[in-house]
Amino acid sequence: MQDAIIIGGGAAGLSAALQLGRSRRTVTVVDAGKPRNAPSPAAHGFLTRDGVAPHELTRLGRADLELYDVRVIDGTVVSAEKMDGVFHVALADGTSIEAPRLLVTTGVVDELPAIPGLAERWGHDLVHCPYCHGWEIRDHAIGVIGSSSMAVHQALLFRQWSPNITLFLNSAPEPAATERRQLAARGVRLVEGAVARIHSTDGAVSGVELADGSLHRVDALTAQSRVVARASFLTTLGLAPVPGEFGELLQVDGNGLTAIPGVWAAGNVADMRATVLAAAYAGAMAGVAINMDMIAAELAADVAAFDAAEPLVATG
Ligand SMILES: Cc1cc2nc3c(=O)[nH]c(=O)nc-3n(C[C@H](O)[C@H](O)[C@H](O)COP(=O)(O)OP(=O)(O)OC[C@H]3O[C@@H](n4cnc5c(N)ncnc54)[C@H](O)[C@@H]3O)c2cc1C
Repeated sequence: MQDAIIIGGGAAGLSAALQLGRSRRTVTVVDAGKPRNAPSPAAHGFLTRDGVAPHELTRLGRADLELYDVRVIDGTVVSAEKMDGVFHVALADGTSIEAPRLLVTTGVVDELPAIPGLAERWGHDLVHCPYCHGWEIRDHAIGVIGSSSMAVHQALLFRQWSPNITLFLNSAPEPAATERRQLAARGVRLVEGAVARIHSTDGAVSGVELADGSLHRVDALTAQSRVVARASFLTTLGLAPVPGEFGELLQVDGNGLTAIPGVWAAGNVADMRATVLAAAYAGAMAGVAINMDMIAAELAADVAAFDAAEPLVATG
């Protein structure tokens, strides 16, 4: 039997597989092939890979694993069960694989405000984070579509990348008096009222239409997505994401261990703020933690066997 199964082969999962493979462990990675940033043509902020296409990054990651005892399967995990200390992981194609340890690195789904025309722009000129794509829309007329308590923060943040910011309050809470002063002091326009639809022209965002019919010109957008861990296959193990203000994530300790012994989680599925680089780091550290857990178990077994074979001789 192999040592571990990694569910999800994005930056976090492939990075964990690299650490485990290099630790002389046998590993299977199951990957559905849809990294969170797949809608975007390029991933930024990853040193030595700035601007790489998301699928090219995972292709390069898989290539790094070829040297080691790591198998990567294209597939989707649908459930996981534990029997006699072994996890049985079922795939959508009807096959199943077994291992005593699991790492969940399946990332998240971004739930966007239900505004006609919005979802189509996600990953293009509707950007989720300024550190990833702010440079690409610098000095654009950026509209911030409000839907949560982060709306004012997001507008003030994007102000670093453009002096031309409009916060469309939409369904976000009313800004406090202090926040209104901050927006005004930074030259951020505040437009109240519900957003009815997003207009695009020639495949690029061109305007925000409010419910009152008014049309406001913008050429880039940002919004607050609600992030939901891709982890429904864990319910058979009794593990579920924990709801919070901005989404639902798996909870882990400092080593990535979940509440279920033998199950670790890393990357976006447990940390909504993790960029690609941070997800790769978290995956690498989870790989190290899994290897250490195996070393501890092997050491305990070897010491027990050693003591059984050579009982301590009483002295004195
Ligand atoms: C539009 C957009 C653009 C972004 N741009 C950037 C950027 O430029 N730079 C940056 O640093 N960050 C960017 N991010 C954030 C980036 O996407 C995440 O940091 C990164 O994807 C997290 O890596 P991960 O390995 O945790 O998850 P993911 O990359 O999402 O990988 C998870 C993998 O698990 C697979 N999977 C899911 N469920 C299952 C299952 N049941 N069975 C098998 N496999 C499964 C998925 O198909 C996927 O391949 C962007 C995010 C978005 C939404």
